[in-house]
Amino acid sequence: MNAAKRQEIFRRLREADPEPKTELVYRTPFELLVAVVLSAQATDKGVNLATAKLYPVANTPAAIAALGVDGLSHYIRTIGLYPTKAKNVIALCHQLMELHGGEVPHDRAALEGLPGVGRKTANVVLNVAFGEPTMAVDTHIFRVSNRTGLAPGKTVEAVEQKLLKVVPREFMLHAHHWLILLGRYTCIARKPGCPTCLIRDLCEFKAKTPEAAPRPSVLPKGGRKPAETSDDGA
Ligand code: SF4
Repeated sequence: MNAAKRQEIFRRLREADPEPKTELVYRTPFELLVAVVLSAQATDKGVNLATAKLYPVANTPAAIAALGVDGLSHYIRTIGLYPTKAKNVIALCHQLMELHGGEVPHDRAALEGLPGVGRKTANVVLNVAFGEPTMAVDTHIFRVSNRTGLAPGKTVEAVEQKLLKVVPREFMLHAHHWLILLGRYTCIARKPGCPTCLIRDLCEFKAKTPEAAPRPSVLPKGGRKPAETSDDGA
């Protein structure tokens, strides 16, 4: 894909949604960090339902650490992999208190050193909480980047590096949200919504979903339309 096409793709995505936001609900960097850790292999909606009950009770490292693994599990048991996530979040809270004064560090290495925090989670926190132009490649971004030809790559790391290289600077801050939303709602895994996709003419995917054929009319020539038939059969 050439640079002019990439520029136009992001120009349209920005025009359609100038200030894209994460769908995770959070008020502080710490709430965001915990929500992102909980969201691995789970939906944002499911995480939001759990944190809506958890955060009014405990939304600081000290308060969540005080719940302990069992206490935290009570709030997050509807989320996949919750036993491991509960252990990680409790360990993460202790580490934040012991090493970072109870604050979320604005530093990639420190973030990736926290239990349950990998490169993707660190990228999301750096981007959303601290405004860094990082590229957190998830399953949606991986699919969209490969399908469209925007930044093809065999691994998540390869796609991340390619995107960091080719996304025009002016779009970097929001690029990861635009691509996630495109993948989540339009360029979905099984049947991409190509007919209504706003970058259809720029996308280089060879197997785009065709427009649905118009449904043949079932009306006999000169016959009455169904709407013209009254409820009482007249
Ligand atoms: S045109 Fe189709 S394949 Fe290309 S980005 Fe849009 S939905 Fe995805």
